[in-house]
Amino acid sequence: MLQKLLKKLRKEPVVKYTEPSIMKSYARLPVSFVRGEGAKLWDADGREYIDALGGIAVTFLGHCHPKVSEAISLQANKILHTSNLFHIQEQADLGERFCAISGMDKVFFGNSGAEANETAIKIARLHARSKGIDKPIILTAEQSFHGRTMATLSATGNAAIQKGFAPLLSEFIHVPYDDITAMREHTENSNVVAIMIEPIQGEGGIIVPQEGYLSALRTLCDEQGWLLIVDEIQTGIGRTGQWFAFQHENIQPDVVTSAKALGNGIPIGACAAKGAAAELISPGTHGTTFGGNPFSSKVAATVIDIISEENLVDKAGQTGASLKKQLQHTLGTSSKVVDIRGKGLMLGIELDKVYPDLAMKFLDAGLVINITGGGKVIRLLPSVLLSDVQVKKIVQTILDVVSAL
Ligand SMILES: *Cc1c(COP(=O)(O)O)cnc(C)c1O
Repeated sequence: MLQKLLKKLRKEPVVKYTEPSIMKSYARLPVSFVRGEGAKLWDADGREYIDALGGIAVTFLGHCHPKVSEAISLQANKILHTSNLFHIQEQADLGERFCAISGMDKVFFGNSGAEANETAIKIARLHARSKGIDKPIILTAEQSFHGRTMATLSATGNAAIQKGFAPLLSEFIHVPYDDITAMREHTENSNVVAIMIEPIQGEGGIIVPQEGYLSALRTLCDEQGWLLIVDEIQTGIGRTGQWFAFQHENIQPDVVTSAKALGNGIPIGACAAKGAAAELISPGTHGTTFGGNPFSSKVAATVIDIISEENLVDKAGQTGASLKKQLQHTLGTSSKVVDIRGKGLMLGIELDKVYPDLAMKFLDAGLVINITGGGKVIRLLPSVLLSDVQVKKIVQTILDVVSAL
């Protein structure tokens, strides 16, 4: 019976656009990409697209980067997984690279962004214990996004993401973003132990805070003895024109989390800490089966090496600035465009209202983007390997689609 069903499944066409056995987590678009190269994607019908989304900020080095593919293949033929019961040299090597680019002291590797933030939240709790605080509070921002696990969705400042999942963890207070005064209002609360913040809000709609916001948070945390936890899961690994967006303000967080672009598509997450915060995790207090295995570690170390050797952090800043300038030049006067904003290759185009089926209209025009910020913001998170011609093509396609709305 089972043999027969599996045989039948093997024979069916690859792409059916139906998935009766998949839980309905996603409202998917009826397109399936089957191949990629650099910033290009091809769907099952052989149609070509420019990828300006990069799998939501993941494929910073584009699809099938030859050096990444080579590292994947070499490591797959050497060893994939052992266990964190044993020393893993690839993990140690990646750790040194991660600390070098972030200025942090020590790092824990998991498998996703949410897990990296879970680690950060556990570090905040250990920090609370060290101060004798039993019921710690972490301040996070309104419209923030920190993940889908119970702790990280509690941290997330978005009622739609929390709906149906009460009781939530009670330790998060959501404070208006980019408003240092609103944060300062909580200094009276002696249970506060940390601030957890995105340096640019991604899911919230590419919200860039005023210059000085992060350094003001750093000062506040120093004054109060709070940990500054910076969620760089979307912004990090070069995207904004620095390895991490906090480096634009020359500050150093106590804890920084990373994932998305770190493995260029191989699942990996990281939570790094500095100073006393880096010493709070001790044997037995945290762990993971897969996290930091030889395979994902080797691939992520290769990703960092490529970005560093080819000066791609600077290139992200330059290509992003050029893309933003051309968007402003071409779309800035459109009555449908309210704002064009972002840093490096993390850009948002805010429209005057919600236009239905917008992402599909872009797909029809051969451009992969996504819509965030309550349905009004076109989000661009492209690969750093975009050519000048592809930049121009992205701008032209957005102009065409927006003009036709
Ligand atoms: C994507 C994202 C997460 C969650 O990462 P997952 O890998 O999906 O768990 C957390 N924080 C930010 C800022 C993100 O963009």
